[in-house]
Amino acid sequence: MPTVLVVEDERDIREVLRRYLERAGFSVLTTGSGAEALKLFASADLVLLDLGLPDIEGTDLLREIKALGTLPVIVLTARSSTEERIRGLELGADDYVTKPFSPHEVVLRVQAVLNRRGGSSDDNDIATYGGNRLRIDEDSHRVWLDDVELDLTPTEWGLLSAIAAAAGRVYSRYELVNRVRGYEYEGYERTIDSHIKNLRRKLGADGAQVVETVLGVGYRLGFTRDEARR
Ligand code: CA
Repeated sequence: MPTVLVVEDERDIREVLRRYLERAGFSVLTTGSGAEALKLFASADLVLLDLGLPDIEGTDLLREIKALGTLPVIVLTARSSTEERIRGLELGADDYVTKPFSPHEVVLRVQAVLNRRGGSSDDNDIATYGGNRLRIDEDSHRVWLDDVELDLTPTEWGLLSAIAAAAGRVYSRYELVNRVRGYEYEGYERTIDSHIKNLRRKLGADGAQVVETVLGVGYRLGFTRDEARR
């Protein structure tokens, strides 16, 4: 399930895009701030970037993303600003959408850019971790530890699936809330801890080893991902 990061300071647009993208099967991260976006790029497979942000010049952000690697970016611009659009393409944007846009069109463009990149992997792959101890099926949302299937709530599933997406990488509570609950409410971060606690209990004796605490930072998957069998 590819992750799309929506960077857009207008909340309504952000939430509409989230809804449409999630319905199309994407995992979605959102932020209205360029500074927050810088912390979230590492988790994204594609960025939808509004060039008119309040805190950082959108084109600077775009330049920064493109300097970091090959992450595809679709730029959102106002209809009037042809110059902005050209500037975006010059800086390496993969596509652009002018406002006001149809969210459906945005979803189609996201899919097109990702397909062009050949990003779609086998659909029925079950990812395994820790030497086949932990198995996660993203399509059916099923999880097994040591061949025992776990019965997880949607939130617990979301948390596990999120930290397993980049095994070993540390996820902050802020990012986990954003990813799993679909909003950016700081006060909610604390409840992540209680969901993690329940998740660990279901994982059994090795719960704290599978979902590791990184003090002062957040959580990460304690298992490494096994080499894909091809
Ligand atoms: Ca804007």
